[in-house]
Amino acid sequence: MSKRITLLGSTGSIGTQSLDVIRAQGYEVFGLAAHSSVDKILQQVAEFHPSYVVMVDPDAAKAVEARLAGTAGAPRVLSGSEGLVELARMDGPDVVLNAVVGIAGLSSTLAAIESGHDVALANKESLVTGGHLVTEAVKCHGVHLLPVDSEHSAIFQCLQDAESAKTLTKVLLTASGGPFFGMKREELAGKTRHDALKHPNWAMGAKITIDSATLMNKGLELIEAVWLFDLPPEKVQIVVQRQSIIHSMVQFSDNSILAQLGVPDMRIPIQYALTWPTRVPGPAPELDFTTLKSITFDVADEETFRCLAACKKAIGKGGLAPCAANGANEEAVRLFLEDKIGFLDIGRLVEDVVDSDRFGGSYTLADVYECDRAARQYVLSHV
Ligand code: NDP
Ligand code: MG
Repeated sequence: MSKRITLLGSTGSIGTQSLDVIRAQGYEVFGLAAHSSVDKILQQVAEFHPSYVVMVDPDAAKAVEARLAGTAGAPRVLSGSEGLVELARMDGPDVVLNAVVGIAGLSSTLAAIESGHDVALANKESLVTGGHLVTEAVKCHGVHLLPVDSEHSAIFQCLQDAESAKTLTKVLLTASGGPFFGMKREELAGKTRHDALKHPNWAMGAKITIDSATLMNKGLELIEAVWLFDLPPEKVQIVVQRQSIIHSMVQFSDNSILAQLGVPDMRIPIQYALTWPTRVPGPAPELDFTTLKSITFDVADEETFRCLAACKKAIGKGGLAPCAANGANEEAVRLFLEDKIGFLDIGRLVEDVVDSDRFGGSYTLADVYECDRAARQYVLSHV
């Protein structure tokens, strides 16, 4: 069945793998959006012929417009975060796939949902920062929120049988453990961005790769699971699965467990989000059990990896605490990638921000942005 897709964050790791799936399935592209990668987006425009392109950076938008001038059938070019929201709202696509990185994706997730679109969500920060707003909007507008994150896709796949889903007792959220698994604080203190950018199993964008090294990614995913599957945080258990073959598991009242397995290739969960509820052949290879030596399990070390502990504390506090943790982390990761703070400073700053306020209570979108701003400011004044 043919589909039309709007792809936000098309030039990133998830964005380009989404285009692999779109190419393989022969889907149409309605709109593409990125921040400032002009050359990459022009290549994508030449191949996929979207009707709209958004460059959030205004200079990049001008550059794209200039280079498309005079091209027959060129897309309309929009700019700024307003352009991103405008594209997310537009009628035309069957699904909006949001692969923007960071809280920058929140407004477009909400805009797509409020306009009645199904959303395939890679941008976990939308749920972490505005989980209450996003899930309320999904209920109110009767749309589907389809997980792209591999762990959440695994859980979603294991819960397709509605009858047994009612007896869910626990989610076992798997974690690779990242490049620094097994290390203690003394060893971690000197780790640089070059060390942290080497993930053992997945090739991803820089921010999520650092989040995987600090285990912040697993903390964000715990919060994401709480919102997506309407679970109390105590029902989400983190299990280190070093080979990233088991993408997550669910346990039912009879203590039976279902797992979803496959090679660590994001094109599997991306495709499932786009073809759900059906399955079709796709570009990812099969898992070869003749070469897979073992599947191992370990416990996550929250004493050492403070980001994970901070995220658990944040979801326990509720309200805007996860948003604050996320804002502190985005800012701290930016500073770490610029060699301005050390690896362990990331966890320290995220935890300090979570501890700095009570945060509870309901919130508006304006509150989310204010909390994000304050958390970033806290980090900048405590480095
Ligand atoms: P990348 O850094 O590779 O790509 C990010 C994309 O977002 C790029 O297209 C980038 O454009 C765009 N972008 C950056 N800033 C803005 C902004 N302010 N407004 C609009 N667009 C912006 O990230 P990933 O693909 O790795 O991750 C994307 C999301 O998916 C994240 O939320 C991540 O947590 C999640 N995810 C990623 C996985 C992975 O394997 N990579 C796995 C599971 C989830 P430009 O190129 O122009 O900068
Ligand atoms: Mg994941």
